[in-house]
Amino acid sequence: MRDMLFIDGQWSAPAHGGQFTVTNPATEEVFAHAPAATAEDVDRAVRAARKAFDEGPWPKMSGAARAATLRKIADGILASKEELARIEVMDNGKPLPEAIWDIEDTAGCFSYYADLAEQMDVSAEEQIDLGDSRFTSKVVREPIGVAGAIIPWNYPLLMASWKVAPALAAGCTMVLKPSELTPLTALELGAIVEHAGLPAGVLNIVTGLGPDAGQPLSEHPLVDKLAFTGSVPTGSKIMAAAARDIKNISLELGGKSPFVVFADCDVEKAVEWVMFGIFWNQGEVCSATSRVLVEESLYPAFLERLVTEAAKIKIGDGLEDGVLLGPLVSKGQQEKILAMIERGVTGGARIAYGGKRPADLARGYFLEPTILTDMDEDNTVWREEIFGPVVCVKTFRDEADAIRMANDSRFGLAAAVMSDDLERCDRVARAFRAGIVWINCSQPTFTQAPWGGYKQSGIGRELGSWGLSNYLEVKQITSFDATKTWGWYIKE
Ligand code: NAD
Repeated sequence: MRDMLFIDGQWSAPAHGGQFTVTNPATEEVFAHAPAATAEDVDRAVRAARKAFDEGPWPKMSGAARAATLRKIADGILASKEELARIEVMDNGKPLPEAIWDIEDTAGCFSYYADLAEQMDVSAEEQIDLGDSRFTSKVVREPIGVAGAIIPWNYPLLMASWKVAPALAAGCTMVLKPSELTPLTALELGAIVEHAGLPAGVLNIVTGLGPDAGQPLSEHPLVDKLAFTGSVPTGSKIMAAAARDIKNISLELGGKSPFVVFADCDVEKAVEWVMFGIFWNQGEVCSATSRVLVEESLYPAFLERLVTEAAKIKIGDGLEDGVLLGPLVSKGQQEKILAMIERGVTGGARIAYGGKRPADLARGYFLEPTILTDMDEDNTVWREEIFGPVVCVKTFRDEADAIRMANDSRFGLAAAVMSDDLERCDRVARAFRAGIVWINCSQPTFTQAPWGGYKQSGIGRELGSWGLSNYLEVKQITSFDATKTWGWYIKE
């Protein structure tokens, strides 16, 4: 494992020589140490990115030339797929097949933005008709400058790619700070970009704690843009830091997403998608459909099947064959979720399944897949993001009731609806106040489609062409026909 920071194309120890431990959540064992960057290291990284942007070749290169490097990065990721996936499992806890899926998606993200970088060569300029023949005008799109990216621990390398790939495609330079809980694959990315020939300083990677490394990055005056994924409280701090220098900002924050299940749908399909919506990645998914609304007449059959299927999920170390639910990322996350369940039960929720550590696993931050029912709409488990394999199930009377309950949240990241009536699905999908809506499924995510939330779930969109726009400035260049006279002060 790498134990140096990646700054200006070089591997270097943090200024104060600090390190922090990295724990495998399945075994509770420390298996690595990562460099603990502080403000001095962040400053060095930002200055390297600034120099690479202001004086280096990267922002001025053609999109096609940048695309060639991005494709080499994608190839490098695929060449190390197994190793990266295993690191991800040990760092985060997720089952190996999910980690492999993540790494393939990560490589796919670099390839996708390579294509978009190439297209910028032909579509970067747009003519505008100003309605005045004396003027011609065009719009050009240019890289914003130095971007600071701060990311969470639930999809470590994939979340990095959602920011690094479009930023590099646009011609920006970047300082990336991964989560202190899962720092290792980001450092591996440093080795991959180095091998791919990315010019020094274009991507800098600093691992460290939020207040020690994230905060100085968000406050650094030489950073032009901040791209953050994480919790609402940290997002709010980043926004405040950005406000001081009026930095461009994009925020991908939390969620408490609803899944509305109508009585006309197939119970088995509904149960499977509901399970995928909350147990995939241990429910540590911003868009997890953690509030399930089931039409009254379907509720008994639906709940019975959900409990039966949840009980079959194999829990264990993500490196073991057949495991579908790994440990939570940390002891802190396990304690937080157990406390939330207890509070929910005190407030009137009933545990239909799970709710505790699995008795047969002596070590590891595991939690049974948990199904809660019978809570009021003001119960914290119904209202607040739990970020674990905990689903709350309630009934609804009719479509209007379902939409009201679904939208009654300060979050608005995702929502799902399931019914055999596709017209109804479309109506409900449009009524949801959320940035991502799934019909007859939950969670499939595509690099081409915009990702982001309404309300407190964030500002802006990642992925697709929206992801690229996050890192581009828009400039109008307007010219006046010099053969003509303006004639305001000086009359002919
Ligand atoms: P978090 O907010 O605790 O931490 C996220 C990152 O911010 C980490 O790298 C952390 O070190 C850093 N950080 C912490 N304090 C900071 C500070 N004062 N200044 C600057 N940086 C600081 O979030 P988390 O626990 O890592 O991730 C879980 C959250 O992320 C959940 O709320 C989840 O919904 C959200 N999330 C959202 C999306 C999305 O696309 N909307 C995707 C994944 C996760």
